[in-house]
Amino acid sequence: MGKESLSATETRDMMVAVADKIIEAEPILTDADRALGDGDHGVGMERGMNAVKEALASEEFTSVGKVFMSVGMAMMSSMGGASGAVFGTLFRSGGKAIKDSETFGAAEAATFFKEGTDGVMTRGGAKPGDKTMVDALLPAAEKGAEVADQPVCDALAAIAGAAAAGRDASEDMIATMGRAKTLGEKSLGKPDAGAVSVAIIAKTMADFAAS
Ligand SMILES: [Mg+2]
Repeated sequence: MGKESLSATETRDMMVAVADKIIEAEPILTDADRALGDGDHGVGMERGMNAVKEALASEEFTSVGKVFMSVGMAMMSSMGGASGAVFGTLFRSGGKAIKDSETFGAAEAATFFKEGTDGVMTRGGAKPGDKTMVDALLPAAEKGAEVADQPVCDALAAIAGAAAAGRDASEDMIATMGRAKTLGEKSLGKPDAGAVSVAIIAKTMADFAAS
């Protein structure tokens, strides 16, 4: 039986599950970045998610937005580099937009992905089609707006599906920003590592809400 909405404590538990899943996926993310970039994405995300777990364990949360803001700040301060800045911005901007919410429902999920994606695009400068994490995030945000009146379990499942489709679509893009921009057409055939991370994050959120 899926969840209608999540409390702040459940939202915290969901993000701990996300952190565990990303840490477990370190080899996958390393390989994805090694194919097109310098290969540091997996280790960077693993470091960020270990900091996230520490931050989330040390605080009691009454606002769902503050859970995500705490995730973002932990990533920014621990990861360094472009990934730390843009993934940190995703969670901080998305969380800030719902900082007064006590529950995480589909409407909050829609706002989180919309404002988080806007933050990433502003901070990182990537547009759709540049073969970056934005190519998984923007479809997720657009889907979120369509499903904002559903139970959060169904909304997150739809959002995760859109993020996965966006990750797959990034395989057919020629990089014009980010890790692979100097490769040109040689970047074809592989997904962007940041888009792979986004898809894992969204899928783990959906799996948590489904249980
Ligand atoms: Mg890299």
